[in-house]
Amino acid sequence: MPRRAIYPGTFDPITNGHLDIVERSAKLFDEVIVAVLVNQDKHPMFSTEERVDMIRSVAPWPNVKVGTFEGLLVHYAIDQDAQAIVRGIRAVSDYEYELQMALMNRRLEPSVETVFLMAGEAYSYLSSRLIKEVFKLGGPISGLVPELVEERMREKK
Ligand code: ADP
Repeated sequence: MPRRAIYPGTFDPITNGHLDIVERSAKLFDEVIVAVLVNQDKHPMFSTEERVDMIRSVAPWPNVKVGTFEGLLVHYAIDQDAQAIVRGIRAVSDYEYELQMALMNRRLEPSVETVFLMAGEAYSYLSSRLIKEVFKLGGPISGLVPELVEERMREKK
């Protein structure tokens, strides 16, 4: 059976920090599904379709797929025959929330394991929210998101 992992998130938009996690998890698993959460944020910068489209364009690895999900992540994981959920940890502040989620997900579905990857040093301060804030205030964001994402952000202005 192929080892398949789900990497869930909002990805509004995908950053170089996310991409680093995708690339590294694609080396650990036979297949990684980057799963965009639908409807979580009422005012996202990008629609679900735009987010999926950007991820497809910037994550070209053959064993990386992109999907969307609503409802319980563990249901989606079972649906996709995935054995693992991948999450990135940037700082201690991520830990508490991630631990809570991982334990709840384990309780809901013990067969699905949560795997944490530490953020790359260069990206550990990056979040989609912060990048959007800096961008809106006119600060440079090149090197923090793929070029295509920066272009799409400019088109939104
Ligand atoms: P959430 O809505 O849960 O914050 P995100 O789309 O921001 O979802 O992030 C999805 C996952 O990617 C989370 O596990 C988050 O910790 C991780 N992540 C976000 N930014 C980075 C980064 N710069 N480096 C590594 N992991 C990251």
